[in-house]
Amino acid sequence: MSDQSSAGGRGNPDTPSEKPQHFIQQIIRKDLESGQTAKVVTRFPPEPNGYLHIGHAKSICLNFGMAAEFGGDCHLRFDDTNPEKESEEYVNAIKADVQWLGFQWAGDVRYTSDYFEQLHKWALHLIREGKAYVCDLSPDEAREYRGTLTEPGRDSPYRDRSVEENLTLFEKMRLGEFDEGSCALRAKIDMAAPNINLRDPIIYRIKKAHHHHTGDIWSIYPSYDFAHGQSDALEGVTHSICTLEFEDHRPLYNWFIENLPVPTAPRQYEFARLNINYTVTSKRKLRQLVDEEHVDGWDDPRMPTISGMRRRGYPPEALRNFCTAIGVTRSDSVVDVGMLEYAVRDHLDKNAPRAMCVLDPLKVTLTNYEADRTEEMRAPGHPNRDDFNERVLPFTQTLFIEREDFREEANKKYKRLVLGKRVRLRNAYVIEADEAIKNEQGEVIEVRARVIEGTLGNDPADGVKPKGVIHWVSATHHLSCEVRQYDRLFNDPSPDSGGKDFLQAINPESLRVLNNCKAEISLANARVGDHFQFERSGYFCLDSRYSTLEKPVFNRTIELRDTWAKIQNQ
Ligand code: ATP
Ligand code: MG
Repeated sequence: MSDQSSAGGRGNPDTPSEKPQHFIQQIIRKDLESGQTAKVVTRFPPEPNGYLHIGHAKSICLNFGMAAEFGGDCHLRFDDTNPEKESEEYVNAIKADVQWLGFQWAGDVRYTSDYFEQLHKWALHLIREGKAYVCDLSPDEAREYRGTLTEPGRDSPYRDRSVEENLTLFEKMRLGEFDEGSCALRAKIDMAAPNINLRDPIIYRIKKAHHHHTGDIWSIYPSYDFAHGQSDALEGVTHSICTLEFEDHRPLYNWFIENLPVPTAPRQYEFARLNINYTVTSKRKLRQLVDEEHVDGWDDPRMPTISGMRRRGYPPEALRNFCTAIGVTRSDSVVDVGMLEYAVRDHLDKNAPRAMCVLDPLKVTLTNYEADRTEEMRAPGHPNRDDFNERVLPFTQTLFIEREDFREEANKKYKRLVLGKRVRLRNAYVIEADEAIKNEQGEVIEVRARVIEGTLGNDPADGVKPKGVIHWVSATHHLSCEVRQYDRLFNDPSPDSGGKDFLQAINPESLRVLNNCKAEISLANARVGDHFQFERSGYFCLDSRYSTLEKPVFNRTIELRDTWAKIQNQ
């Protein structure tokens, strides 16, 4: 393919500067102009507890996109503070997904766990300053003391422990001398604060878990709130961009930055997360689909994961274009999945070479064509791109056409092959059907037809023009293959809203396997990662898992037209 442009470089062509600027662009531009920021540093901070999904693609495009646009750096940082749920498998999958999307992080991959020593020192600093204490309330008691949105909380009975006692107890926590849940280190802020996040939040918890990156050296782990901003500060992140649910955590983010001797002062900005209809974008629910085998792994081509979309044949450019098209705002909304599908179709239409593939073959014998003859028909690789190679289509006495492209009788609306009528074979001759051969069940198993001479590139000399054009392949020179037709995984526009069981909304027809398909022989050269338009049926790619040389498997990336829109408009 000739369209492997990268969006990671400076001066991203996807976001020309004449476009209206979204609020994050405006903030960064202002900070650069005022000198508040010398060089923009952003970060994409996934927790390695699952595979990335389309929502993460939005965050990736935003964080890497801002760094690229303003000549800065974007870091990839694994937010790995919950060892029980995290693993190296997810770390590797996330790295591969970010790079496939077309982005490259600055410097090495970073891990929050690389900062555990420093974070621990800062926790000691807070204790010495009288701003943190070890609290022995059980999780249930702590909840009870926390109060509610309308009622203030109450001070923990352990809040006034001395610095020395806190230092000793925290050290014992670190050495693994206490059980999980028996105590925690909390920041001493304000139990009456209207913002619950400021009511003495937990900084460190006891967890006697093996960590995929640090092994068994820690038996205490920092909370997300304590780790995140300080990691940003250590890396010199200038604009820490996150989703709106962290807006209420911003005062706490700032409290830590103000109360610790951090080297830099990052600022947090929130944007609306991507919600998309007919789709679930929660790692927990996606994991459930995988664990309960409703799908064939995280990269099942029906999954909204980046790896699933890649396997399905969605091009990275289409995902980036989609992320640009939906924009960045501070108000929550639901994006129509049709916009994503449009971006995929639009890119593939311009960039996918054409091919013919018969999905449900019906044999056609051309009675006036010699059995030992083969002509080489020529067809363009793409109707309006001359940088694509021409295809060679062997034309022989026996061919396959689509079963649905033949009828013994039909009304005028049917513009395909009918007994006694003519049709043009795409890039080849006009033929006329004479006879339908049937099996004992009365099913048509072969059509006998005639080539109308002189119709290569010309209308028939007798003036009887065919009404339609159908696709075909040679029955003697073709590639036998399997085709997997995918459709939306859910047939409910909001599968998980209002406490609904999203499993009930699974579309039972989201996968259809056709295992006797006949593709034009040029597809024998197809490689994983190539995209094709199978004329009249859709866009396809080789399946990276199941395809073999003996039995190629093509995934239908998407149909040529949006059939869902038609259903909705009926
Ligand atoms: P999930 O809710 O699926 O578990 P998460 O937010 O817990 O996702 P993280 O690995 O913490 O997953 O996310 C990494 C980054 O991606 C965060 O900055 C997060 O805000 C962002 N992100 C996650 N989901 C979305 C979404 N739907 N739209 C935009 N950004 C998202
Ligand atoms: Mg998260």
